[in-house]
Amino acid sequence: MTPEPFDVQQKMVESLLILIASDLSARLLQQEVLTHHLTRRSVEAELEVRNHSITQYLSLLQNLHRVTLTLSKASNLEQLYRDAVQLGREYLAIDRMAIFLTDFEKNEMRGTFGTDPQGNLVSRTEFSSAIPDHPLVNEALSRKDHVVVKENAPLYFGKDQVGVGWNAMIAMWNGDNCIGWVAADNLINQRILTEHQKEILKLFGAALGQQIVIRRNHEMLKQLNLELEARVNERTKALVQANEALEEANQQLAQWSMQDGLTGIANRRFFDMALKRYWEQAVAQGSPLHMLMLDVDHFKRYNDQYGHLEGDNCLKKIASALEVIVKPYPNAVLSRFGGEEFTCLIPSQSVDVVKAISHRMLKAVRNLMISHGQSEFGVVTVSIGCCSQQPTADMEVMCLLDGADKALYRAKKQGRNQLYQYNGVLQHDERVENCVG
Ligand code: GH3
Ligand code: MG
Ligand code: MG
Repeated sequence: MTPEPFDVQQKMVESLLILIASDLSARLLQQEVLTHHLTRRSVEAELEVRNHSITQYLSLLQNLHRVTLTLSKASNLEQLYRDAVQLGREYLAIDRMAIFLTDFEKNEMRGTFGTDPQGNLVSRTEFSSAIPDHPLVNEALSRKDHVVVKENAPLYFGKDQVGVGWNAMIAMWNGDNCIGWVAADNLINQRILTEHQKEILKLFGAALGQQIVIRRNHEMLKQLNLELEARVNERTKALVQANEALEEANQQLAQWSMQDGLTGIANRRFFDMALKRYWEQAVAQGSPLHMLMLDVDHFKRYNDQYGHLEGDNCLKKIASALEVIVKPYPNAVLSRFGGEEFTCLIPSQSVDVVKAISHRMLKAVRNLMISHGQSEFGVVTVSIGCCSQQPTADMEVMCLLDGADKALYRAKKQGRNQLYQYNGVLQHDERVENCVG
């Protein structure tokens, strides 16, 4: 066998080396492809996880938006707290949640609504205590937009520990004042607290705080309006009462201005008005008008003997007695003309009726039996002058007064305690009649 020439051997080695090199390169390439494939898989998986997490976050954000919208429609604060706990659990993947309110002036916190270990809504309004001086609480209440989380924390319901898990606290704010906090945990489902979930808790706390402030302001405004309305009503009532009192006072005043202070019957002012009105009516209707003028006999003497006060009493008694007689004649106006003189206007009656009334008056005064030691009658008496007219447009109203005055004068002159009538025109035909009672 002839040995291979050296260059042939060399070529073979070269070929072998090339073969080995290409095999190596192929293997390396294969390895690279494999690695690349694995990397791609892991990136894809990671992307998928991230995608899932972002989708979840977006869905929670959408839910948060809906929850906030619902909370904004709560009709009062109690409903707001109740809805917040229920909706937080239902739509924001919170296992348990409770809302606490704080009053830093009183260093007090109180419960509103919360969740029991089974996830049911429970009222916690009876709960109140001092704000705990705890590092976690202090941290939560010290900063806005902040969630304090404690992992592997003991979880409580009331004072009882009911499990272990994460526990989050989110403070709620009115401007720079902390108004309370939301506490949440994962007691029931033990879900891990992701960064996205933390963000949702933070946003939920901020939204709830805002709604509480809005609702509180709203209720305060409502209360203020109610108070204002009550005050307006009170004032209106007081004003109505004042007006009524004023009206009453005015009526009283009007009455007083027409009433004689001593006897309570009409005064001169009222008489003047009545005379004018009755005269005009009589002219218009062609009806008669009568006027009695009464004067207490020897009244000066009476005062002198019994005193002015007794004199006053006497005038009061006489007025009352006269009033009784006049009462059946609703249009008759009895008044105190002045001093110890009285008048009585009687419209539309016949002369005979007026005469009868006058006689009843004379008798009634006598029957009072008021002793009068200085009178020839032994008791207080009156004299009456009566004038009856048929008023016409060309007559003066004063003629009625003049006639009555004249008749009275005559009654006095003829011995008092009697009636004189004047029924005609005074100047020409003075027909008077003595009607001693
Ligand atoms: P005559 O029979 O002529 O009428 O005599 P008289 O004394 O009654 O008449 P005179 O006019 O002389 O006196 C009236 C008196 O009436 C005088 C006055 O003191 C009294 N008098 C007037 N007004 C009042 C009053 O309001 N109270 C009292 N007590 N007396 C009064
Ligand atoms: Mg007199
Ligand atoms: Mg007199």
